[in-house]
Amino acid sequence: MRILCTALGVAIAVSAFAQGAPDTPSVTVRGQVYTPRSILARNMGTEQDQTTQFPPHKVIGNIYYVGTKTLSSFLIVTPQGNILLNSTYERNVPVIQKSVADLGFKFSDIRILLGNHAHGDHQEGDAAVKQLTGAQVVTMAEDVETLKAIKPGGKEHPIDRIIHDGDTVTLGGTTLTAHLTAGHTPGCTAWTMKAQEAGKTYDVVFHCSVRSPGMISPAVAQQFERTFKVVRALPCDVPLGDHPAQYRMLEKHAKLAGGGPNPFLDAANCDLEADIQEAMFRATLAQQKGSN
Ligand SMILES: [Zn+2]
Repeated sequence: MRILCTALGVAIAVSAFAQGAPDTPSVTVRGQVYTPRSILARNMGTEQDQTTQFPPHKVIGNIYYVGTKTLSSFLIVTPQGNILLNSTYERNVPVIQKSVADLGFKFSDIRILLGNHAHGDHQEGDAAVKQLTGAQVVTMAEDVETLKAIKPGGKEHPIDRIIHDGDTVTLGGTTLTAHLTAGHTPGCTAWTMKAQEAGKTYDVVFHCSVRSPGMISPAVAQQFERTFKVVRALPCDVPLGDHPAQYRMLEKHAKLAGGGPNPFLDAANCDLEADIQEAMFRATLAQQKGSN
């Protein structure tokens, strides 16, 4: 009887967690309150937001935004063809194609396809982009396994070049450096490059998500401990992210019309996302410890 009661108790606790777990912990960073659900909602928006074209625009230098309202995709234009970072969902590939065309570029000029991390909302469309462009698909070694499991319509996930932490990708005078920032996925990759504007050179960071899971294993905790240090050490004038909300794109894009200084130059907020996610990571670990 006791065993039965205990088992029943566990079953009830488990289903309660799955269905309507409390939205905790909450953390306050620079005056703003965040919870796991509010961060997820901020990142993903509605299903419609995930597939609706956001006005494509120049970010800085040869970098353009070609993604949807809540899923980032960037086009890096060079004289020898272009680089696409993040194909997002496969159903978004026509949206990205349209954004590239709206900016006056050719989708077929994409020579290299990069990704931030092996989750469907960022890299499910890789096979479709590869089919349409023949682009070389570059992947961080630690994400290969997870990426291979993403097979929309049963299509094999293309992987043409496997890279490691610190490796570079060069095309037409632009070089991107891959920084392993593991945790959200094992091969989560922040990409850095330099962009020129008005005779000056700026450091651009395409951050990978540093959002931790609800249950943090010791191995993943170790990855995040290293990652938060790596992220904060990256040279940065222009912080970007795999979800637009991570770098407050809406707010910055609205300022473009004003014709003032480039709103994407935002060195003061380069570590903001790391601050939010590290606070959440530490609070989640503390909560986990308390419940053991
Ligand atoms: Zn993700």
